Amino acid sequence: MAEHPQTLVVFHAHPDDEALLTAGTMAAAAARGHRVVLVVATDGALGLADESAHGAKGDALAATRSRELAASAAALGVARTVRLGYADSGSGPEVFPDPPGGRRFVRVPVDEAARALATVLLEESADVLTTYDPAGGYGHRDHVRVHEVGARAAELAREQGRDVRVLWATVPRELIGRGIDLAMKVYRFPPDFDRSSFDTAYSPRSRITHRVPVRRHARAKRAAMRAHASQASGGEGDRTLGVLSRLPWPLFGLVLGREWFVEPGAERTGHPATDVFEVAT
Ligand SMILES: [Zn+2]
Repeated sequence: MAEHPQTLVVFHAHPDDEALLTAGTMAAAAARGHRVVLVVATDGALGLADESAHGAKGDALAATRSRELAASAAALGVARTVRLGYADSGSGPEVFPDPPGGRRFVRVPVDEAARALATVLLEESADVLTTYDPAGGYGHRDHVRVHEVGARAAELAREQGRDVRVLWATVPRELIGRGIDLAMKVYRFPPDFDRSSFDTAYSPRSRITHRVPVRRHARAKRAAMRAHASQASGGEGDRTLGVLSRLPWPLFGLVLGREWFVEPGAERTGHPATDVFEVAT
């Protein structure tokens, strides 16, 4: 291999988030001989599932989603998958009580979860860590938490002498707006749907420091998405919004060709970098 192999650690909230936001970047890095490590915070047991097909709830859904995650990781060339094992905090108005024997991710102190992630960063001699933008994309509480935990874990690794660059996996906000408008033409949205809530989601295009072309890895990305079969359909009506906010399938067409990152603190002067191992200039 021509280049010095590096280690990319991608940190995600739920099984399936890797497929939408970073799958192409992961597959591209693995194909070039870099080490790709996937860390997932929660079991995804509050995810939407097509119950008629899977009949899965709670523990059963967690087991299904864990298998789906393994299949997705295999499709992307992931060398190691780490499940931090916290319970899904859900996206409803209230956080449910902790399940028996578990703790919901948002109830785990940031420092505690960050120590678990920092351990992986140090074991792996990570070069780059991907997390989420401060908005947590569309604001799911577990995604906001990934941002916070990721930032703290990088600090802890630095204290141990390991400098890990942090990149926020995101999508240009303007593109999300277009996707929502498209989806509104196709799906019935609940009457209280607030289009303007997406005005502050993800990141403005002007802040993007990395735009990674991933079309060559679209097949792997699609395979990763398909691996998460339990999340592919979720009924109609209000649940459509659930599907859309949790995993915006209508946006697939828009995200298959590129993935986007913001490197905080990096002042971009020219075009975005096209490789996560490069610093934007
Ligand atoms: Zn998620």
